[in-house]
Amino acid sequence: MIRYSGYLMPTAKETPSDAEVVSHRLMLRAGMIRKVASGIYNYLPAGLRVLRKVERIIREEMDRAGAQEVLMPAVVPAELWKESGRWEAYGKELLRFRDRADREFCLGPTHEEVITDLVRREVRSYRRLPLNLYQIQDKFRDEIRPRFGLMRGREFLMKDAYSFDADEEGAAESYRKMYEAYCRIFRRMGLSFRAVEADTGAIGGTFSHEFMVIADSGEDAIVSCERCAYAANVEKAECEAPDAANPAFAISVGPPRRVSTPGKRTIGEVSSFLGIDPGSLIKTLVFETDKGDVAVLVSGRYEVNEIKVKNLLGADWIRLAAEDRVRALTGAPSGYAGPVGLKMRLLADHSVRAIAVGATGANEKDAHLADVVPGRDFSPETFADLRLVAEGDGCPRCRGALRFSRGIEVGHVFRLGTKYSKTLSATYLDAGGKDRLIVMGCYGIGVGRTAAAAIEQHHDADGIIWPISIAPFETAIVPVNMKHEGLVREAERVGEELSGRGIEVLLDDREERPGIKFKDADLCGIPLRVTFGEKNFAEGFAEIRDRKTGETERVEVTRIVDRVAAAVEAKRRECAP
Ligand code: ATP
Ligand code: MG
Repeated sequence: MIRYSGYLMPTAKETPSDAEVVSHRLMLRAGMIRKVASGIYNYLPAGLRVLRKVERIIREEMDRAGAQEVLMPAVVPAELWKESGRWEAYGKELLRFRDRADREFCLGPTHEEVITDLVRREVRSYRRLPLNLYQIQDKFRDEIRPRFGLMRGREFLMKDAYSFDADEEGAAESYRKMYEAYCRIFRRMGLSFRAVEADTGAIGGTFSHEFMVIADSGEDAIVSCERCAYAANVEKAECEAPDAANPAFAISVGPPRRVSTPGKRTIGEVSSFLGIDPGSLIKTLVFETDKGDVAVLVSGRYEVNEIKVKNLLGADWIRLAAEDRVRALTGAPSGYAGPVGLKMRLLADHSVRAIAVGATGANEKDAHLADVVPGRDFSPETFADLRLVAEGDGCPRCRGALRFSRGIEVGHVFRLGTKYSKTLSATYLDAGGKDRLIVMGCYGIGVGRTAAAAIEQHHDADGIIWPISIAPFETAIVPVNMKHEGLVREAERVGEELSGRGIEVLLDDREERPGIKFKDADLCGIPLRVTFGEKNFAEGFAEIRDRKTGETERVEVTRIVDRVAAAVEAKRRECAP
């Protein structure tokens, strides 16, 4: 049992001005965290209790899935990152520095290199595989925009696991086990989540799922099918290819006609000026990439998905060309580019194929072309899925309608294949004595972000409503008058007995008004509160209140321990995997 009077849980009524999201505000107000520098925090006792509970659930499920816990250093020598090629590729998120002997180091933002180095030294034979190693450790990423408290910090706790298998089949099985462990972990935390197909990004690899906690404040847009289980990150979500337009529609159409469109650049402006549907405009965007410049065509109704373009090209980076580059390549300011006569690589989204006769930029300021027939007036080198899905699009699996929602990425599982074992030469000898590359997977969970996501999903106007499995305390005990000796003695006895039964109790023994104690218990999200009020106490009663439902129950003091224990038990069961 913890006594609030001596406990560092400094609550605040005021809403901190620099906190934009609920979880950040409430973690500050509930005295869980304090900022040290941008994206860098102190965890106060109650905040740390929550993080430790998140860790414990993760640990139990990782162990259950057969993973072994290790601990790697935060400080990593540059050589390993140079070997994998990420020293150059990772960019400014990687915090680099030198030691006194001028050797280069970085603070690990993720640990594929370190773990692969360990395994290549220790694992020589197929008999040692499969192997899954994990750690729960501080990561550092010099994020451009650290924000939302623990949600996007620069120093943050992460669970990262890495699997090593002899072949793809084994790797698929390791991935499946981690996927299942993640489902159990987030269920045990009482979170409503979805596993969505995702792009593999800077970590690389072949296949990945993000675990998203559904919340309106989430930074990620998720697409999911109304009918089947298909769900994907917007960056990754596939679009059905539409039927190609019937060429008969274009047979009697004359050559492209130049029309003057002074000052009309956007799809909306051009389509209403020309009196045509935005879907018949062929939008042309110019990108710069490490594989050269490309123009990407898409129906005016849709947006280009840069990640799909980047993946199609196999590029490391992509960006929309700057104004002067657009002028140099197309001869016109941006807003007037079009594929007809354009001398550069042309890629087209499938949606362009559905346009029989369209309009597009004339590569000339204040002019567009009408009566443009794809295939006749220009031919892209390829048609591919290059656009962002739109609400109501057909599901690529079952043709049901796709819907958008927002989510917070709390976990990420990757099939890495041999990306790291190849660059770092992590091999093993198979049964025939042949050298083979180890097949890897990696699996992350943000500990602090998960706690923050739980608050985003579980709060009300009065504060946090923790799922009991990750609450800092399971029960608050509030004696309303600390001067009333008999009442205080009874509250303490009940607290001690509950602790003796393995229930985590915060006894609010502060010399504060009852209103303040109630408000703080609500703010800190303690699932149950037992109130020892003077009037009830005189009649031999105390009151139990449920933080989530607000329901109260008057119970004889003699029965209160059993009653609270039963209520805690019921709440724990709600968080069963
Ligand atoms: P994001 O797209 O949000 O930057 P990421 O794809 O970079 O995330 P991973 O590299 O997959 O993240 O890291 C694994 C997990 O670590 C994430 O799922 C998330 O829960 C957590 N995480 C990543 N970056 C941060 C951060 N800056 N602060 C807190 N947690 C983070
Ligand atoms: Mg990131």
